Formats: sequence, structure tokens, C-alpha cells
Amino acid sequence: MDPELEHIKVFDRLNELVKNYHSTRAKGSFVEYHPPEDLAEILNPEALSEPLNWDRLFEWVERYLKYSLKTGHPKFVNRMWSGANLPSVVGEIITAVTNTSACTYESAPVSTIIEKYMINEMLELVGFKDGEGQMTTGSSNANMIAMMVARDRVNRDIKRKGLFGSRELYAYVGNDSHYSMDKAATVLGIGTDHLIKVPLDEQGRMRPDFLEESIGCVKQQGGLPFFVGATAGTTVRGAYDSIEDLLRLRQKYGFWLHVDGAWGGAAVLSPGLRNQYLSGIEETDSFTFDFHKMPGTNLICNILLLNGFPGALRQSCSIGDSSYIFREESEKEEFNLGSFSLQCGRRVDALKWFLDWKFYGHEGFARRIEHYLQLSKYAERVVEETPELEMVVPRESFNTCFRFKTPYGVSGNHFNLTLRTRLYRDAENMVGFGYIGSDLCLRLLITNPVSTKDTVRSFFRDVVQAGKALLEET
Ligand SMILES: *Cc1c(COP(=O)(O)O)cnc(C)c1O
Repeated sequence: MDPELEHIKVFDRLNELVKNYHSTRAKGSFVEYHPPEDLAEILNPEALSEPLNWDRLFEWVERYLKYSLKTGHPKFVNRMWSGANLPSVVGEIITAVTNTSACTYESAPVSTIIEKYMINEMLELVGFKDGEGQMTTGSSNANMIAMMVARDRVNRDIKRKGLFGSRELYAYVGNDSHYSMDKAATVLGIGTDHLIKVPLDEQGRMRPDFLEESIGCVKQQGGLPFFVGATAGTTVRGAYDSIEDLLRLRQKYGFWLHVDGAWGGAAVLSPGLRNQYLSGIEETDSFTFDFHKMPGTNLICNILLLNGFPGALRQSCSIGDSSYIFREESEKEEFNLGSFSLQCGRRVDALKWFLDWKFYGHEGFARRIEHYLQLSKYAERVVEETPELEMVVPRESFNTCFRFKTPYGVSGNHFNLTLRTRLYRDAENMVGFGYIGSDLCLRLLITNPVSTKDTVRSFFRDVVQAGKALLEET
């Protein structure tokens, strides 16, 4: 067959599959579960060593779709994201067919302009002045880059000399901060002994009094407290550290104040929720949030924003001889986004983000996040009104941490974990879990635009039904 004709047929087939997948993403079962050994046998990837023709290749595509989770299904409430916005799916497909690296203007002119535009939109939205930013591979990396910039600003020799012989650096985060902070501390050579986990108050927020006390101790012993990472929406509880309390301490001690808003930072999109949860955000030094979580853009879509340190990203991220790729004579360096990134090749993440932004608008995203909060409030009420269920802690924001009540003599942790696993394997629903202190809780996260009060009610109905059945067997 004429290769061009063949390619057209490939796209027709692909289009058909994508259409079918999309139109059934919220219907039927969200998973056909098989244990890993069984799935490996069913898929049998080794068997196909011959080069495949298109027919056989598409069998693989269909197999992939059949055994994958439908993350756009309302019963998938496990992660901080679900499904993906359609405009961003369009963006991803175009990104795939135009395959390029967003590191230089020459190789990615349109995405460069779009990314810079979007970063400026976000800087303006957050209220950062003379700021800069970049799309990264996720908040984990954004947290590390923020810590790195803070580290490099406090000691300008570190890039050259490393940490050898320098004053000991200390970073602070709340006890429920994301594990990426620990990774950042290890990667950057700061070490987890120098990442101090500040105790939390009743609501799961970093205690500023403990933070100040520890900063005092560290300074007395000759250490240098250089970085405080606030969390805006902790992973399990959804607690927001008080930015204003931390700003007061920054004034006194001069550390870098970063806000990890991977999950709850999306509240910045709604003026009301920003007031409620992120008051003072415009005064912080850096802020990251994931557009691939509540806002629903295709994975991965993250932004790191810096407030008022022009050139700081480049100073930290650029090193070594990159003259083969970044040539300033033809373009202004600020248009070569790779020159202030830790990556060399950069995936084009900007197009999907831009299309979403233009399609839904600031207003649309604000309404969406507000809707999720309303549904979370509703979920809490349902738990409180359901005799079989209880909240493990009161709701702080978007996370509903609950569990099935167990009678005396039955371990609540074991029971709820078993319940959760059973719900998943039976394709009832997929809900997350986590520990608050020593108590295991089931964590409901609502991030699906198709969610309604009805889907919330039916979620809890399924949990109660499965819980009762399990209790009878126990
Ligand atoms: C999800 C999350 C992260 C990690 O973000 P990635 O984009 O997945 O790397 C970091 N911090 C918090 C609070 C999160 O919820």
C-alpha cells in the first residue's frame, strides 16, 4: 500500500478507538482487575518479537485500553486528578504529532511563546512582581528547584564548591509535607537530617511557634536556616499552612519561603478560595502548583513561579558548556526556555495547558475548584449522617478523610484497608488511603467535572454496602 494512504488509515483507526474510549470513559466498570502475574500472562509482551503489522499493532492498542483504568470514571476517586480536559487532550495529540523539544526557540517557536505567555498569566494571577517561572516535570521537581534556588542564593559558592566546608544549611517543612521535600534535601546534598519536620497543630498546619524555636536552636549552633516549605493542601488531610504566620517569621529570619501548592494551590484560581486558604501568597518567594490535579489538564502540567528574583532560575539551573544548543546570537536567551531548566530536552507541556486556559478561562477554572469544595463539604455531611461511617479528622479543604466504623475487637486499620482493596478489585470504586497519626483513613478526593452530589452519595452507598458485607465475614 502507498505509505501515505496507509498513514491515513492509521489515523482513521486511531480516531475511532479514541472516540469510543472517550464516549465510554464514565460508563460501565472502571477497571477489569487482574493481579500482576495474571495480567502479564494475558498480555504476554514477550510473545511478539516479530515486527508487527498495523493490524497486530492495533490489537495491542486495544489491549492497552481494555486493561487500563478509566481514570475519567466517577468511581475513580483515588488520585489528585482524573480523566483529562478535552482541549488538553487535543493539545497532547498535536504535541505528539509535532514532536519537538521545548528547549530552544528554534526548535519550538510556538510552544515557547505560549509557555512564556502562560507563565506571565500565572505570575499576574498570583501577584508576583518581576517574577519568572517555568513548567517542570511536576511539583516534586518544582519543590527541588525552589530549594536549589534558595540554596544558591544563600551561598553563591555552592555551585562551584559544593557543600564542602560551608556553614550547615537547614530547611523546614511541616510534618505532613510531601515526600518530594525529603528527596530534594537528599539530591541537593542538604541531607534529611537537615530537613526539619515541624510539628503540626490540631488542624494539620505547621506550628509557627515550633518553627521559630527550632530556627533559634539551629542558629545558636551555627547553622543556617535557609528555606521554609509551606504546604498548601497536604496530601492526606488537605491542610493549608498559614502563609501569613510564616511571612512574619521570614521578616525576622530572612529565609526563602516556598509554597508547595501541588494539590491545594489551585485555590488561587478562585478569588474567594484564595482569600480563605492562600492569604499572603503574593508575598512568598516561590509557589508551585499542578494544573494536572484539580484543574484537570493532561499529566504532566506543572508550574514553578518565582517572585522578584529576575535571573535566579538561570543562575541556578545553567552550568556547563551548553553552547552547542543555546546560541544567543540568533535569539534572545530568554526565549530559549531550556537554558534555565534542569532538563535538556523538554517535553512540550504548554500547548495542552494553553488550550485549556483559553477554553475554560480563569472564570471556568474558578467555578470548577469551587464546585469541588462544595462537593467535599457535601461528602463530609454524608459521612456525618451515615451511622456506619465516621470522619477521622474534620475536613480542612478538599480532602474527606473518613472510615468505616468497626465494632470493638476489630482493627479499624486492617478492616478499612481490606475494604478499600476489595472495593478496587470488585471495581466498585478506587479510593485513596493514608494515615493520620496511627489511624488509617480512606481519603475521598473529588477532581472529576462529572461528579455531582449523586455520584458522591452513590460512592458512600457502595462503601457502606461493601463494608457491611465484609463485617459479616469478619
Ligand atoms: C502531588 C503532590 C506533589 C507531587 O507533585 P507531582 O507533580 O506529582 O510531582 C507534591 N506535593 C504535594 C502536596 C502534592 O499533593
